Amino acid sequence: MTAETKKPFKRISQETIQEVLDVSILDISEQLGHSPRRSGKQYAIFCPSPNHGSERTPDTYIEPYKNIFKCFGGGGCGCGGNSSIAYYSWTENGEYDPKKHFLSSVKGVAALMGISLKYTDGSSEKATIAPVKRTKVYKPKETEPRDDGECDRLYRSFLSLCPIRAHHYEEWKSRGYSNEEIKLFGLRSVPNKEELQDILQSLHQQGFDLKHIPGFSQRASKSAEGLVWEWSINATDGYFIPVRNEIGQWYRMRIRRDAGKPKYIWFSSYDNSDDTSCEVYLLRRYGASSGAPLNITVPTNVVQNWHVGDSIQDYFSTDTVISTEGEHKSQLSANILQTLVDGVPGVGNV
Ligand SMILES: [Zn+2]
Repeated sequence: MTAETKKPFKRISQETIQEVLDVSILDISEQLGHSPRRSGKQYAIFCPSPNHGSERTPDTYIEPYKNIFKCFGGGGCGCGGNSSIAYYSWTENGEYDPKKHFLSSVKGVAALMGISLKYTDGSSEKATIAPVKRTKVYKPKETEPRDDGECDRLYRSFLSLCPIRAHHYEEWKSRGYSNEEIKLFGLRSVPNKEELQDILQSLHQQGFDLKHIPGFSQRASKSAEGLVWEWSINATDGYFIPVRNEIGQWYRMRIRRDAGKPKYIWFSSYDNSDDTSCEVYLLRRYGASSGAPLNITVPTNVVQNWHVGDSIQDYFSTDTVISTEGEHKSQLSANILQTLVDGVPGVGNV
């Protein structure tokens, strides 16, 4: 019997895969000629999927900070992901199935970025173009939010100082909320810059510490003496919807935006103050991520009698938990069904 000599299977090295993974979505989008346009913290492009069909406005968003992209055109076609590899595959194949598209996409990104392919057997394939200059993929450090009770006290004081704009009030009314419910649920408009300055001053005078409360962080600006840090919030328009935990504390907040997609986002912030390569306008410190928690939604008559700190089980017993999308829908369905509803956050958190 003769031993068969098996040719070793040639694989792309982990080193090359990592190099390709380190390519930002923004960079590969530019290399693919999609001309991403900056709007605020995001970049807008037309959907990269060839299956999407024609669009009048660019409705796919790249968030460079989180290195994610998602199509919202016509409600979204499913195109989205969190790597340059996925982005490339959506562009080439109109989908991304790692089993089918990973290898060809790694090679595609490498070719466009001038990355040479190294193989596990020691061989390599030199890139045909010079390495393309890359922007860094930012990775903010994970900061734990303060405890729920501290978030609750701060959010309640903060919201009590926030305005109620006429168009928001009309919207809440048209959704069927009474004045009492608007107050009870803590709905408030996002303050503008001038209003925010007064609110922040008032919170400081009341002795509140804003560090590591999701949504709050300090922003940097350049001055002759170096960086200047100022407190700010990670919201520009729309209104706040407090999110309750199981003991009734307002421990997180959602924002219903006036414009832009998605409509509902988390009130969240980050800390990347140790990132020396970050552009100044993106620098933040003392922020904290909201995560993506569940919202405990119960009928209005239960909220009215629900003392903060008491478990919802003391007021309301049910085995049924219904999942709905979006904060209003869950509140309204709770009132109709008189059932505890776990509000599952709506589309994405881009
Ligand atoms: Zn699309």
